[in-house]
Amino acid sequence: MKVIESAKKMQSYSESLRRQGKKIAFVPTMGYFHDGHLCLMKEAKKMADCVVVSIYVNPTQFGPQEDLSQYPRDFDRDLRMAESVNADVIFYPSNKEMYPAGYQTYVDVEKVTQNLCGISRPGHFRGVTTVCNKLFNIVKPHIAVFGKKDFQQFISIKRMVDDLNMDLQIIGLPTVRETDGLAMSSRNKYLQKNERPSALTLSKSLKLAQKLYSGGEKKSAVIISKVEKLIKRAPYTKIDYIKICSTKTLKDVNEVNGQSVIAMAVKVGTTRLIDNHVFGDKLNV
Ligand code: AMP
Repeated sequence: MKVIESAKKMQSYSESLRRQGKKIAFVPTMGYFHDGHLCLMKEAKKMADCVVVSIYVNPTQFGPQEDLSQYPRDFDRDLRMAESVNADVIFYPSNKEMYPAGYQTYVDVEKVTQNLCGISRPGHFRGVTTVCNKLFNIVKPHIAVFGKKDFQQFISIKRMVDDLNMDLQIIGLPTVRETDGLAMSSRNKYLQKNERPSALTLSKSLKLAQKLYSGGEKKSAVIISKVEKLIKRAPYTKIDYIKICSTKTLKDVNEVNGQSVIAMAVKVGTTRLIDNHVFGDKLNV
């Protein structure tokens, strides 16, 4: 496996692959891998000749009060894990490489970034879309693979790619969960043992929401209030939001249908967890 740290070197490597007619699939990550990341890499491998994985904890998507400096990192472990699924290249740039002195260009997707995490994390999606745009220009992939665990991120990236006529395909893959239902996340490492049962209320509440919907309940307010009750009952939980939105616009909807997503962010102790479910989709909880 190749490790490339310079944007210029990554660009020329990708250019040479393209000249040979090779297909490049790209998996952008912030590292500290779990099976969710590995699943994206494995799927990427099926779709292309070369899988490039970036590991970059992007400072522009963290707010001043957020966990940038504490974000878990273990480059050697990540290398071994990526190698185990036959990833071909790790792109591992420094902050200086990505945001050199004088940097001043940002990409803003206006509407789908407003609701949900856009409310509690102002500027977050501007950082995400900017870094993905930069990474796409550096890695020059034919395909980029994202997890739908970060549903709003996935929709925002797709919007950006469509709006800016970017010549690549965006693929979204289902959320990978622990056997107990908890959505895998690098941040799960922060959870204390006694907080874990409370963390499970997120996936349990998605299951409840789907059950209510399948049983004929179509009113968002009714589903949200029952979900809220379930989560509030658990200790250490503090709800940031629970919303039901259109999967296209990410605006709140009053009536639920197969194009609606229930999305939530909940703090469990000091750990902020997110999860979501599109009604009617398979839910592996
Ligand atoms: P991160 O390193 O957390 O920024 O995530 C990198 C990529 O992995 C993003 O596309 C995420 O949506 C995706 N991802 C993170 N957690 C999961 C999961 N549990 N299942 C599937 N994809 C995930």
